[in-house]
Amino acid sequence: MTEGVALLIRGGRVIDPANRYDATADVLIVDGVIHAVGRFDAPAEARIIDADGLVVAPGLVDMHVHLREPGYEYKETIAGGAQAAAAGGVTSMACMPNTRPVLDDIGVVRFVLDRANDALVNVFPIGAVTKGLRGKELTEMGLLQREGCVAFSDDGFPVMDSGVMRRALEYSRAFGALVIQHAEDTGLAGCGCMNEGLIATRLGLPGIPSESEEVMVDRDIRLARLTGGRYHVAHISTRGAVNAVEAAQKEGLPVTCEAAPHHFALTDEAIGDYDTNAKMAPPLRSSDDRAAVLEALSRGSVSVIATDHAPHDLDSKRVEFCKAANGVVGLETMLPVSLELVRDGVLDLSACLATMTCNPSRLLGIDRGTLSEGRPADVVLFDPDESWTVRAERLHGSARNTCFHGRRVKGRVKMSIVAGRVVFEDRPDVSF
Ligand SMILES: [Zn+2]
Repeated sequence: MTEGVALLIRGGRVIDPANRYDATADVLIVDGVIHAVGRFDAPAEARIIDADGLVVAPGLVDMHVHLREPGYEYKETIAGGAQAAAAGGVTSMACMPNTRPVLDDIGVVRFVLDRANDALVNVFPIGAVTKGLRGKELTEMGLLQREGCVAFSDDGFPVMDSGVMRRALEYSRAFGALVIQHAEDTGLAGCGCMNEGLIATRLGLPGIPSESEEVMVDRDIRLARLTGGRYHVAHISTRGAVNAVEAAQKEGLPVTCEAAPHHFALTDEAIGDYDTNAKMAPPLRSSDDRAAVLEALSRGSVSVIATDHAPHDLDSKRVEFCKAANGVVGLETMLPVSLELVRDGVLDLSACLATMTCNPSRLLGIDRGTLSEGRPADVVLFDPDESWTVRAERLHGSARNTCFHGRRVKGRVKMSIVAGRVVFEDRPDVSF
């Protein structure tokens, strides 16, 4: 571990979207905070990191991560998830409350924060909207927020009851909290296990219509209008849902959404021969849905990229397709897969990084995702040109359920720094 008083990252292309900064420069870190960005002589005692040829950016912020502790440590621990994050350049992650017990009371929030203290990266808990994620009774959101929760969600489940969702949006408004919805009408989704369409028909699998997401987003936008609450759609995946969010934004409603790399990089064709590592909720959609998400990213109406990192043990995935657990890991492939958006002209590099740094930080109200002076020194250094092949067995986290196994990607994390401490370094002779 390197824990120095001063760290000088020298000569990289420093991109800080929050400050519209993009130039060759040095970043000086003193006592764990960003001291300055510019050109300097190194302080006598500083460790110097040569960033020539690398991009130096704020550490990534992933606002949608499933840490499996407490309750499902056999899938991945908080420490294990943090290791995957560090290797992926993700220095802050917001974790969803579907643990056992659920993150619906301050005791569990304290437990997670306590565990997170020893983890390599920052963890910001998201509290449950309803007790036990049962969709009936609201949690004490105010207390949970005071304890450190940065948003509220029943993710994994939708808040199905319209009255409960209305009250959640009303109640959260009192303290400006963000309500994140896993938008899925469970009645319409039924027993479906993949996107409804030609491929599902060909594979003989029951489908989930895109309407299951759209009906919920439409309803919620009406409730956001009624209440003025801040509403955020998790892992948006269909054209209709994107259109609804854009219309709401045009109207000036506090409505936002995020997209997951698998939804903008893949379609339901990736299921191939019943590959359970391509099974998640919402499912991989059609090429037209994918195109809609890409267009929305380029317009900025999808302002956040978040992974929905959902580690699973092998047994949960080595079963027939419909019975397999939903979810894929994503922390270690977030950056290179998102950089495909730059290669393909969807976003420029700074805008792409904004979706993974300052944009989610602003939504969550956390002081991360920027290289502004005085902020915690969370930084990622990556080589934008280095190509590599994703190999499930080489991931740093505990789980192997990636849907990008075998994908050739470009852009490799070289170093991750959290509060001035190097937590990952891409060197074969160094292990953390
Ligand atoms: Zn979800």
